[in-house]
Amino acid sequence: MTDSVAVVGGGAVGVTAARALADRGVDVTLFERGAIAAESTGRAAGICYDAFAGRTDAAVAARAMARFRELAAETRFSVAERPYVWLAREGDETRAEAIREQVPRMRERGRAVELLDPGALAAEFPALRTDDVAVAAVARDAGCADPAEYAAVMAERAREAGAAIRTETEVGLTDGPAVVTPDGTVEFDAVLVAAGAHTRSLLADAGVAVPIKAYRVQALVTEPIPASERVPTLYDATAGFYWRAREGSLLVGDGVEKRDFDPEDWDRTADEPFLASAIERVDAALAPGETRPSAVERSWAGLCTATPDRDPLVGEIDSGFFVAAGWHGHGFMRAPALGRTVAGVMLGDDGIGEFDPTRFDGDEQFPVVEGMTVE
Ligand SMILES: Cc1cc2nc3c(=O)[nH]c(=O)nc-3n(C[C@H](O)[C@H](O)[C@H](O)COP(=O)(O)OP(=O)(O)OC[C@H]3O[C@@H](n4cnc5c(N)ncnc54)[C@H](O)[C@@H]3O)c2cc1C
Repeated sequence: MTDSVAVVGGGAVGVTAARALADRGVDVTLFERGAIAAESTGRAAGICYDAFAGRTDAAVAARAMARFRELAAETRFSVAERPYVWLAREGDETRAEAIREQVPRMRERGRAVELLDPGALAAEFPALRTDDVAVAAVARDAGCADPAEYAAVMAERAREAGAAIRTETEVGLTDGPAVVTPDGTVEFDAVLVAAGAHTRSLLADAGVAVPIKAYRVQALVTEPIPASERVPTLYDATAGFYWRAREGSLLVGDGVEKRDFDPEDWDRTADEPFLASAIERVDAALAPGETRPSAVERSWAGLCTATPDRDPLVGEIDSGFFVAAGWHGHGFMRAPALGRTVAGVMLGDDGIGEFDPTRFDGDEQFPVVEGMTVE
C-alpha cells in the first residue's frame, strides 16, 4: 500500500502529481526548495498544443489540453486560445518536407491540424510575412497560459485536497525511500522526484542513475506592438525561434545551448547575441507594413531537460523512487497529463511503456537535442 508520498519539486509537474495523489486519499508532502514555480515552470513561455504525430504524444497532449481547459473553467487559471503555426521557408526543403509528412500523421491521430499554403496562411494571418514560406501548418487546439499561475492554482488545489506543501525547503534523498529534510530524515512509502534540472543529482544521492541533462534556453518579451493581437503562436523552423503573444507584446524564445549545464551554476540572464538575433528574426517574420519592435522589455534564461531518446522518464526508477522529468522543452504543456500519470503509477496504475524510466541504464552518453525542432 502506498499511503505516504513525498514529492520533490514544486514545478508544474510536481504540483500536478501532488494534487492527483491527494485527491486519491494519499498522505502527500511536497518539498520545494524555493517558491512554487521557482525554476523552469516560472520561466516557461506557456505555449500548449496537441500537434504531435506519435500515438502516445498525441494522446498525452489531447488529455493535457482538456485538463488545462477544465482547470480554467473551475479556477482563476486561464488559457488564451490561439492557433499554433509552424512553418519552413523556401530553400529549407528538409524541414518543409518534414512538415508535409507530419501533418497527415497528426490528422490520423485525430488532431485538428492542417497544411496551409502561403496564400492560405497570408489570408488567415496577414500580420505574418508569407512571401518566402515553403509550407506551413496550423494546429487549432492550441493556446497560451501562464505556467506560474497554473502551478500556483494546482498547489492550492493540492492543499485543499489535504497535501502539505513545504516551500523554501530543500531536501536530499536517501535509501528507504526517504527524504533528508532540514529537520531530519523522513521515510515515505514512495518518493517522486520531479525536480526538473536537479533530478539527476538528487537521485544520485540515493544511488540511482538517470540519463538527464540540463540545457540552457533563452527568451525575451518585446515592447508592445499592434501585431501581437493578430499573430498566431509561431514556430519558424527555418529561423529556429518561436513567439507567442503576451499582453500586447511578443514573447520570443530560442537561444538554445546544446550542452549539459550544472543546474547550480548557470547564467540566468539572456545574452546580447540572443537579444539581437531574436529581434532580427521577429523583424523578418512580420509582414511588411507591420510595426517592428525595436526594444526588449525583459529577457531571461532557463534550463530544460534532455534524455537520450527525447522521451521523458515517467515512472518507477528504483524500489520506492519515482521520477517525472526530461521534457525537452515541452514539460508545461504535458504536465496536466503526465503529472497525473506518474501519480497513478505510484498507486499501481499502468504507466506509459515508452516513458518507462528503466529503459535506460542511467550512464548513457548522448548529445543534447532540443525539443522544438522539425526534422
Ligand atoms: C525559456 C523557457 C521557455 C519554455 N517554454 C515552454 C513552453 O512554452 N511550453 C512548454 O510546455 N514548456 C516550456 N518550457 C519547458 C518547461 O518550463 C519545463 O518543461 C517545465 O516547467 C518542467 O516542469 P517541472 O515541474 O518538471 O520542473 P521545474 O519547474 O524546474 O520544477 C522543479 C522544481 O524542483 C525544485 N527542486 C529542485 N531541487 C530540489 C530539492 N533538492 N529540494 C526541493 N526542491 C527542489 C526546483 O526549485 C523547482 O521548482 C520552457 C522552458 C524555458 C526555460
